[in-house]
Amino acid sequence: MIYVVGHKSPDSDSVCSAIAVAELKKLLGFETEARVAGELNSETKFILEKFGVKAPKVLKSVGLKDEVILVDHSDLSQAVDGMKDAMIVGLVDHHKLGDVTTKVPIEVLIRPLGCCASVVKGLFDYYGKKISKGTAGLMLCAILSDTVIFRSPTCTDEDKRVVKELSKICGIGEVESLGMEMFKVKSEVEGKSARDLVARDYKDFEMGGKRIGVGQLEVVDLGMVEGKRLELLKEMERLKVEGREAVFLMLTDIMKEGTMLLYVGREGLRDKVFGKSKDGWYKGMMSRKKQVIPKLEEYFG
Ligand code: MG
Ligand code: MG
Ligand code: MG
Repeated sequence: MIYVVGHKSPDSDSVCSAIAVAELKKLLGFETEARVAGELNSETKFILEKFGVKAPKVLKSVGLKDEVILVDHSDLSQAVDGMKDAMIVGLVDHHKLGDVTTKVPIEVLIRPLGCCASVVKGLFDYYGKKISKGTAGLMLCAILSDTVIFRSPTCTDEDKRVVKELSKICGIGEVESLGMEMFKVKSEVEGKSARDLVARDYKDFEMGGKRIGVGQLEVVDLGMVEGKRLELLKEMERLKVEGREAVFLMLTDIMKEGTMLLYVGREGLRDKVFGKSKDGWYKGMMSRKKQVIPKLEEYFG
């Protein structure tokens, strides 16, 4: 049995791409099943429900004998526990290559597209296999999620073309409004603690021997989180005291297409790294991996 699995703190792409790759591998005659590396977020649950697809089982850890295909990541720090010792037999991704190594020759496809699901679509085409209706719907939603409905600077023409092809297969015409529906679910902050909100899409990075935390909340209206600003900063301060040089939280308004960048750390740090701004608002800032991490790495690395 080959498991297909995405990263920890699973987002919609890492779940939907795992399901899609498992479907392709089955069509190619392999015994394969999708797994997830943790609890699903509300957006992913919404997507699975919409297309009537069952949530994959959680894969807590892997060992020497487990065969695994990785999707949407290639960093051990983001992978299921034990991945260092497992038998990685495949990798499909859209991030920079991380630090995984393998014991056997493997099939790899990494492309700089806006979403791993777009890369997976290319694999189906390469093998001449048809995508099922439900899986096409999941892949379409993953692309809308990762590219912030085509607004992120990571989005490519190929992602848009793939969405058109997938929408024909799954019969969804109004992709923009489906995307908005998803982001409304994703934006839900009502009744959520500051700790939950900061942890929702949070990643630690090692830069020049220092640990920097960067979280992101994508919302359809900044007003939804503005009232929680002090609580969020308090939670970020708690994370900093745990041993981080600085902690950033991107409050990204997907309609205004910009980010209110909260941070705790040395005074003036934010302006030094990202340029002067009015109240921490950066117009056009949407992507952690493309617009935030490289600047921090340049400064701290
Ligand atoms: Mg991801
Ligand atoms: Mg992704
Ligand atoms: Mg994301």
